[in-house]
Amino acid sequence: MTLWICATCGVEHADTEQPPAECAICSDERQWVPRTGQAWTTADRLRERDIHVALHEVEPGLIAVTSTPEVGIGQQCMLVVTPAGNLLFDPIGYVDADAATRVLEHGPVIAVAASHPHMYGAQVSWAHALGEVPVLVNEADEQWVRRPDVLVRTFGGTLELAPGLVLHTLGGHFPGSTAALWDAGADGKGVLLAGDAIFPNPNGASVSFMRSYPNLLPLSPTAVERVVARALSLRFDRLYNNFGRSVPEDAHAVVRASADRYIAWVSGERDDLT
Ligand SMILES: [Zn+2]
Repeated sequence: MTLWICATCGVEHADTEQPPAECAICSDERQWVPRTGQAWTTADRLRERDIHVALHEVEPGLIAVTSTPEVGIGQQCMLVVTPAGNLLFDPIGYVDADAATRVLEHGPVIAVAASHPHMYGAQVSWAHALGEVPVLVNEADEQWVRRPDVLVRTFGGTLELAPGLVLHTLGGHFPGSTAALWDAGADGKGVLLAGDAIFPNPNGASVSFMRSYPNLLPLSPTAVERVVARALSLRFDRLYNNFGRSVPEDAHAVVRASADRYIAWVSGERDDLT
């Protein structure tokens, strides 16, 4: 049996003799399948490729985990360090014993979780490598789990992982799009790891919201208001996405102002400028 990994999104699939006919995550309108067709790699093949997993501190208590070369979408995974245990959020599509050891040097991991299905990566492999810890999946997106496992547990709404570290369902990009709220981040002002639910723009001073980023499908004003209302009920000053972008400060005000701008555009208020 072989652990198949989609070459495009990096999400691991259940052990089967033959690869699945398609990756359901990439066949969905939010992702994409290459014109040359669905491509697969395997965990064994990746291990032969001399992939290096790098850890670097983003701010005290927050460690970025990336691989060179990238696997799949190539997200920046985040390790949130707390006195009660750590969270591995948006796991990359590759793990080996050395990478797991270096993650565990920052303390025990209490859970692996992803902001949404594009970020499932090698979540089950990571959970086994980090000491048989739970893989937390938002129940609203459970249908997208490609590698079922005894470690997978579902949750809905909010879930406290440790004091000052809580998963919150924001919805929008996926119905179960999940953010991790870390109270101690940003010098105690609070950090929101928002995945693709709230996406920082290059200047770090505005954000946007999309059903699909690669295919440029927007969300409605109603959906964005719902996402923003949930996010702004939380206390944070800094926001990170899953690709190394951030809103370093005043993120609460930035999200509100950006939502107002977005809604003005998608509701036609600015059509005189088009
Ligand atoms: Zn895929």
